[in-house]
Amino acid sequence: LTDRLSNAFKHLKSKGKLSEADIDGTIREIRRALLDADVALEVVRSFTGRIRERALGTEVSEALNPAQQVVKIVYDELTGVLGQGVDRPLNFAKNPPTIIMLAGLQGAGKTTLAGKLGYWLKDAGHTPLLVAADLQRPNAVTQLQVVGERAGVPVYAPEKGVQSDGGDEVSAPGLTTGDPVKVARDSIALAKQKLYDTVIIDTAGRLGVDEVLMQQARDIRDAVQPDEILFVIDAMIGQDAVRTAKAFDEGVDFTGVVLSKLDGDARGGAALSVASVTGKPILFASTGEGLKDFEVFHPDRMASRILDMGDILTLIEQAQKQFDEEEARKAAQKMAEGEFGLDDFLEQLQQVRKLGSMKSLLGMIPGMAQHRQALEQFDEREIDRTEAIIRSMTPAERRNPKIIDGSRRARIAYGSGVTVSQVNALLQRFEQAAKMMKRMSNKAGMGGIPGFGG
Ligand code: GDP
Ligand code: MG
Repeated sequence: LTDRLSNAFKHLKSKGKLSEADIDGTIREIRRALLDADVALEVVRSFTGRIRERALGTEVSEALNPAQQVVKIVYDELTGVLGQGVDRPLNFAKNPPTIIMLAGLQGAGKTTLAGKLGYWLKDAGHTPLLVAADLQRPNAVTQLQVVGERAGVPVYAPEKGVQSDGGDEVSAPGLTTGDPVKVARDSIALAKQKLYDTVIIDTAGRLGVDEVLMQQARDIRDAVQPDEILFVIDAMIGQDAVRTAKAFDEGVDFTGVVLSKLDGDARGGAALSVASVTGKPILFASTGEGLKDFEVFHPDRMASRILDMGDILTLIEQAQKQFDEEEARKAAQKMAEGEFGLDDFLEQLQQVRKLGSMKSLLGMIPGMAQHRQALEQFDEREIDRTEAIIRSMTPAERRNPKIIDGSRRARIAYGSGVTVSQVNALLQRFEQAAKMMKRMSNKAGMGGIPGFGG
């Protein structure tokens, strides 16, 4: 996905304004990129449709260059779909216990999640109880008991009562009988009695959506009336995400989503699909088989992950480099011809100002502190001042700054609202920059773009 998006954005860099053709070309690339990431087709359609609308609309900012604008729009839309830009916390009951029910296909990661969630809650000072209400699969109860033991969280299993970690009661392997609804109901009674403040109910799943399974999940739900019904979905599920999510949404009307197996290369196409078709918030992400491979879901980080901001930063750097080289080459040529004046200086400043808008772009991206710091040196006010000074000069003065004597300096200072010494400083800097330009007139490179941290 990342490469595709980079390609899409590449077409836009260093162009003046977004044209309709520009946008459509980019939208095509983004569509292809999202499909590659296994975002469901219908989701891709509506998503790119919104991007197009926004890109064509008046929301396009004058301060950002085209590539940055599209990055921002895509990022904003993604964040919006993934959770209106806010983290949705777990909903706790006013009167404990808080009841959390897990639902999802077999192999989605429910049992694993039960352990992680229990561990996480215990760490936060809660007293969770895991409940083995998956009586469908042989060994499902045992699996939860192993998970509970590892997490140090007690497990309630059918006809076994509570087993604390290290307990030697082990349920019979292969147990497939029993009533999951009764188990769930009994566990709540026990939690009230023993003051467990959260109850996590692990339920059965099947390989595909099926009505018997859904009915069982509904029965459990109706019996215990959970505060949260978490739909667990494998992030690698791909195009099936929409169908599965819809089925569970209609079947049990879940309250939140947990994305599992979001480790490794998974870019999270399923996140976009599920959030988009159900409108339900994603609460957590499971990122591995270990107990601690679990995190609260942050929509903004997920948006960054889907876009891979690392790559986008590289892209911006490339655009910057290209700009530097072209500009430096042009400037150097003018220098060589003895034609580089303050007008050219001004033009360069405006180019530099474009780069300055990266600051606001980076400001939107969490965890980008180190890049942001690099841009701190960029002082927009300094450029404003420099620009004002140059604009107060006559064309002749701009072409040949040597003619700017004392009285001209006083006039320029007055005209631009700065002090004479600030005018002096600028002229001095220009002279230095001009020298530097001369030195690098044969090798293009960043070197000394005047006004940049001068
Ligand atoms: P359930 O059928 O929904 O209860 O799914 P399980 O919890 O039994 O998980 C199915 C398989 O997926 C197991 O082998 C787990 O170890 C594995 N698994 C669960 N969550 C994750 C995860 O976040 N990352 C990875 N890599 N594997 C996971
Ligand atoms: Mg399970």
